[in-house]
Amino acid sequence: MATARTTYPEHEARHPWLVRLLNAYHISDEAARAEIAQEEARRGEAVACREGCRTCCQGQVIPLSDFEALGLWWFAAEVMPLEVQARLRPRLLAGRGDEECVFLLDGGCAVYPLRPFVCRQYFVFGRACAPGENVYETRPRDVFKAALGSGRDMAWELLPLYGKGEEDIDRLFESGYVSRKGKHLRTLPLENIVIHMDAAIARKSARNITASKGRNA
Ligand code: SF4
Ligand code: SF4
Repeated sequence: MATARTTYPEHEARHPWLVRLLNAYHISDEAARAEIAQEEARRGEAVACREGCRTCCQGQVIPLSDFEALGLWWFAAEVMPLEVQARLRPRLLAGRGDEECVFLLDGGCAVYPLRPFVCRQYFVFGRACAPGENVYETRPRDVFKAALGSGRDMAWELLPLYGKGEEDIDRLFESGYVSRKGKHLRTLPLENIVIHMDAAIARKSARNITASKGRNA
């Protein structure tokens, strides 16, 4: 059964890029879910990935495109609860990310709804990854990369964000345009997210003061 796409109506009304990014994540998640079910049936075993399993968030390079990064910035500053922000701030300011992903908080992903494609499409069969294990090296046959066949549909959502017209999308997809524009999470100025958090708090507070004055007028 298909799952509903994650929605943030107020924010999507303001940010057309967010609509396309969430559409692309939904395409990826739906494809991954169907392919995992097929692969489980083929192998006769369940995928090893489980909630709370986190070796794949440690010591890995996390590649992502501009709009995946923008999604992380937006989610952390605009949607993440303040108490989670408070715990994340020191990690962002310290630029942590060499040993583990900066968003790995108390064993869970603090940006789960907006986690990048690579985090949505990498699965392991057999057994859960051991701490420090690189499954590509130790047992490559257990690695399962999902949703690869849906790349073109995702490109149709994402490439217009780069100002590309429909006539160019298939050609650019074939040439790996989005991957070529990719960056690595740990090389991004993560401390800037804290500035965005502060700005969002100030904006909401100003809005509340204005609303309260309106009510008292
Ligand atoms: S990839 Fe490995 S560490 Fe990550 S969820 Fe799956 S089994 Fe766990
Ligand atoms: S973004 Fe989330 S799922 Fe991806 S590596 Fe970081 S903590 Fe793990």
